[in-house]
Amino acid sequence: MPLAVAAEADQQLSLAAALGLPEEPVHPAAAPTEPEPLPTGSARPRTRQRQPAPEAAPAAPPESDTDLPAWHHHGLVEPEQLTPMLRHYVELKRAHPDRVLLYRLGDFFECFFEDAITLSRLLELTLTGKEGGKGIGRVPMAGIPHHAAERYCGELVRRGLCVALCDQLETTPAKGELLKRGITRVLTPGTVLEEGLLAARRNNWLCAVVLEGAGSSAARWGLAVADVSTGEFRVTEREGSDALHQELLQVEAAEVLWPAAASSDATSPAWCPDALRLTPLPRTPFEALEASTTLKQRFSLASLAGLGLGELPLALRAAGGLVAYLDSTLQEQQVPLDPPTTWHAGDQLVLDAATRRNLELTKTQLGGQLQGSLLWALDRTHTAMGGRCLRRWLQAPLVERVAILERQGGVSELVAQRSLRLAIRRLLRPMGDLERLAGRAGAGSASARDLVALADGLERLPQLAAQLAQATSAPLQALARPWPELHTLAAALRHTLLDTPPLSLTEGGLIHDSVDPTLDELRNQLDDQDAWLAQQETEERRLSGISTLKLQYHRTFGYFLAVSKAKAAAVPEHWIRRQTLANEERFVTPALRHREGAIQQLKARAAQREYELFCALRAQVGEQAAAIRHAARLVAELDVIASLAEVAATSGYCCPEITDPSGPEARLLTIEAGRHPVVEQLLVEEPFTANSVSLGGADHGPDDGAGPDLIILTGPNASGKSCYLRQTGLLQLMAQMGSWIPAKSARLGIADRIFTRVGAGDDLAAGQSTFMVEMAETANILHHATPRSLVLLDEIGRGTATFDGLSIAWAVAEHLATPPERGGLGARSIFATHYHELNALAELLPNVANAQVLVQETGDALVFLHQVAPGGASRSYGIEAARLAGVPAAVVLRARQVLGRIEANSVVRVDQEEAGGADGALAA
Ligand code: ADP
Repeated sequence: MPLAVAAEADQQLSLAAALGLPEEPVHPAAAPTEPEPLPTGSARPRTRQRQPAPEAAPAAPPESDTDLPAWHHHGLVEPEQLTPMLRHYVELKRAHPDRVLLYRLGDFFECFFEDAITLSRLLELTLTGKEGGKGIGRVPMAGIPHHAAERYCGELVRRGLCVALCDQLETTPAKGELLKRGITRVLTPGTVLEEGLLAARRNNWLCAVVLEGAGSSAARWGLAVADVSTGEFRVTEREGSDALHQELLQVEAAEVLWPAAASSDATSPAWCPDALRLTPLPRTPFEALEASTTLKQRFSLASLAGLGLGELPLALRAAGGLVAYLDSTLQEQQVPLDPPTTWHAGDQLVLDAATRRNLELTKTQLGGQLQGSLLWALDRTHTAMGGRCLRRWLQAPLVERVAILERQGGVSELVAQRSLRLAIRRLLRPMGDLERLAGRAGAGSASARDLVALADGLERLPQLAAQLAQATSAPLQALARPWPELHTLAAALRHTLLDTPPLSLTEGGLIHDSVDPTLDELRNQLDDQDAWLAQQETEERRLSGISTLKLQYHRTFGYFLAVSKAKAAAVPEHWIRRQTLANEERFVTPALRHREGAIQQLKARAAQREYELFCALRAQVGEQAAAIRHAARLVAELDVIASLAEVAATSGYCCPEITDPSGPEARLLTIEAGRHPVVEQLLVEEPFTANSVSLGGADHGPDDGAGPDLIILTGPNASGKSCYLRQTGLLQLMAQMGSWIPAKSARLGIADRIFTRVGAGDDLAAGQSTFMVEMAETANILHHATPRSLVLLDEIGRGTATFDGLSIAWAVAEHLATPPERGGLGARSIFATHYHELNALAELLPNVANAQVLVQETGDALVFLHQVAPGGASRSYGIEAARLAGVPAAVVLRARQVLGRIEANSVVRVDQEEAGGADGALAA
């Protein structure tokens, strides 16, 4: 294939040049492809022309920045005045106004106008210029080498930009015509497939939202969520824009699509979290009829009834809009996508954004690091697919007892069977990302190395199956089966592809011998040519008498005879000098020249044949994408289960007993000697102190040791209150993931939601008073908690006056503990507080207990024991902390006096009846 060469080698136009300052030279590598008329008399000296002043510009974006070049936006030019190539560029740009348009010119992808300025600023590239046409002069241009396009595009996409790539569609133009070019790829944050642009261990979610009745509390919405790289596709439909906001926060979408009604919708709507990239789109693909047609076509269905979308019209529209967007951005690349499945609000343990943040599930609150998060503590997965699966399990724990027990069974089996666990993990370790490799094969973008990696992974399936043949738990048994179709595919890949093929697909060296008769024949002919060349070498050696002569090949110069300088004078007449090097002379002979053409042609035909065979093989893999992904997902789950088992077995975890949700212990939460899974890994100098917890006795009474519903937890600063709170939440969550937990033993009911609210000082939400944030979060909890919820509150009511705060804290605690029959919530809660006045609640309400984190006062120092014990702390040690922090003795002394006075006079007087404790339901 002839190399494409750059068309327009132009002088640079820097910002300064645009303002009339001296210019600098152009990209060195650019060389011409376009048949632009060559100037005659190229040797004639030329004088530098002044640039013509631009004529009055057509309507265009307002000019605000006086530093900008004259043609700083494509809307400023009249297309008729542009050169044909730039006119084409502007036409494309008008069709893709929100995308950075990269236009292939020879060895470069170039941008013009505003995109050139954006590109040069973002990627720190030189802004050059290009002659735009008569009466226009130079327009800004910036470019990237085509071979580095993926890297540069990746950077643009990471910065939230969308990119449209316009490539050459032919290698030689028709006479007098422009080289044919067209958009071949649109890269957007939610649709990238390239390995280099995706984080291996997390999904890249693309969302589409259709909302009706926006602004009202009854807003109804449909949400479609897909990962184009792995094929997962899910939809849901619900009410309330706050719920939508929460879903989008949980999904952490790379891109959110949305049918914007009119230009007034261009501003980011309230339901969309700020950090997400919103792509407004035309409404048509999201209309019911269009959307269902798109879905039927995509999944080759006559009716959508089987997808369960009948009752979910908005979800259907969102799904259709999403698929239409994929079709428009991925062009001919038919990425395999699963048919959409539906999910509902109650399908998983509900964790709102604040709770996920406070529990540090996938990143720490401070600094957003993986290290220090629960994911970090639990992730021993070997494969990228396993890594993604663990993240998903962690973000959406289960609520169905059967499903939890199923996973737990797998973990328990691998904890018990160490050698099986190790054998499985050994097989998993080198396994490639089958899920994404299958997608790339389907999209026609997989390389030969991708397919070899895929074969390698598929070959491990029978080995895994053999290991798992005796397994007794469902998740392990799922893989203990033959995969005949994948086995055949792996065999075909191995039979066809060389083990270490090159990166390039068009230069041969991919396919084994005896795969294809045509290729074999071409290769035989090439062997014959090689034999002829070898014979020529011998023959010319004999003729010339130069025994050191070598027949060699150079990519540019072809075949030649190389002799040392000293022997060069003695070469025969028929040799033609080709090249002179420092120590060597290179010659050709007419016979060599003659053969060379034939050999090149043969090589090109062989390479072309190899490429065809490769593409056919890749298409064959693409057709099996669904089967590969099915296996890949089971492998991912096995990897997670083996990882959880590894952690459990090596860190002293126990298998929590999950109580029957319809039995009397449905609300039980008892953990004996529990530990914080992350903090215990981070502590190096001292051991972690295990603590027990007991909550949620049967119904609402403290049923012999079954535990209260509300624990008021007191203790000095830094004694371990937050740690205890979070630990309780994390262990409940891990148990619902199907994991074992760091404890001696545990019996846990299934929670419907976990809520956390952490002290005001820790939460500096921009622009809002921290107290208001705290109250809004508290309100959310009080509106949604149920008797099955677990509520963890840390220092509620501290951002206001002491008595306001204390009163709010009291009322919240009381409301949480009071059962629904008496108008409260009856949720299982732990309330960590410095207001030890709240300890009085335990005397008023039978289902409230006090606990304290013990400290030891030794002389001047406070020793933190991190031990949680029954009973309320009688004091907060705040004044001791102040003294230790260096507050002057006189002030400390005075503080003690004041405290004494306040304490003498401040008692919360609430009688039992007022607090709701005299009722039979509570006092039972
Ligand atoms: P508080 O909420 O009471 O201010 P934290 O829960 O933040 O205290 O705990 C302070 C520090 O004490 C933690 O960072 C941790 O290092 C340590 N810590 C907490 N609980 C324990 C424990 N059970 N065992 C050992 N160290 C602990």
